[in-house]
Amino acid sequence: MFVDSHCHLDDKRFSDDLDAVLDRAAAAGVSRILTIGTGDGPPEIDRAVRLAERYPQIVASVGVHPHDAGKVKPQTYEDLRALVSHPKVIAFGEIGLDYHYDFSPREVQREVFIEQLRIAKDVNLPITIHTREAWEDTMSILRQNYSGPGIMHCFTGDPAQAREALALGFHLSYGGVLTFKTAENVRESARITPDDRLLIETDAPYLAPIPHRGKRNEPAMMVETARRLAEVRETTIEAVGASRPLTSIDCSRSNK
Ligand SMILES: [Zn+2]
Ligand SMILES: [Zn+2]
Repeated sequence: MFVDSHCHLDDKRFSDDLDAVLDRAAAAGVSRILTIGTGDGPPEIDRAVRLAERYPQIVASVGVHPHDAGKVKPQTYEDLRALVSHPKVIAFGEIGLDYHYDFSPREVQREVFIEQLRIAKDVNLPITIHTREAWEDTMSILRQNYSGPGIMHCFTGDPAQAREALALGFHLSYGGVLTFKTAENVRESARITPDDRLLIETDAPYLAPIPHRGKRNEPAMMVETARRLAEVRETTIEAVGASRPLTSIDCSRSNK
């Protein structure tokens, strides 16, 4: 059984056939899906929560993506604090820094990131981190502003970065990139990630694994990533799937 630890089922590319997508996920053994609540950014940040209300296998996160940091108003933080108490919200994010696209000014991205870390800590929810071309700043902000469980989503770092994130207590979540030909570094990181810190995700509709690369990704396709992960770790796909699907994360929620 698999858990997709990160996807965007509220994306409009799923609006016509979400039920079929979820049927295929179930048929592929994907029994639980964390859908990310960042949507198109504030003020509308509850789309994932509404989906989670409709489907028993879906849980949700809430947060503001670094791309949307520029849209944040004081009210946004109020809205987030109101949403986190929803019983199907199990994580905060994806939050972080994206210096590749720079859709929001870096200074604003850092401010919004730090403020959301504060909320996540207050409400005792694990965080899910998006970081792109911003590793050093991400790590230094986390070191100074956060201690608690978290996930490095779509982890594509090298083994040195993997060790750094693991030392901070993070889970590393591997997605379709792991299957790409050029991603030897990522596979090397996957080799050294302990069983109890390993997660799998699709980031659907983005980043479909080989052999679906370029198509719309969906939760059922995470089986391809799991298969590659099993090869890399010299184990079985069942072992990879069975390993701690969000368990520690769910636990931290129920300790609340
Ligand atoms: Zn992301
Ligand atoms: Zn994402």
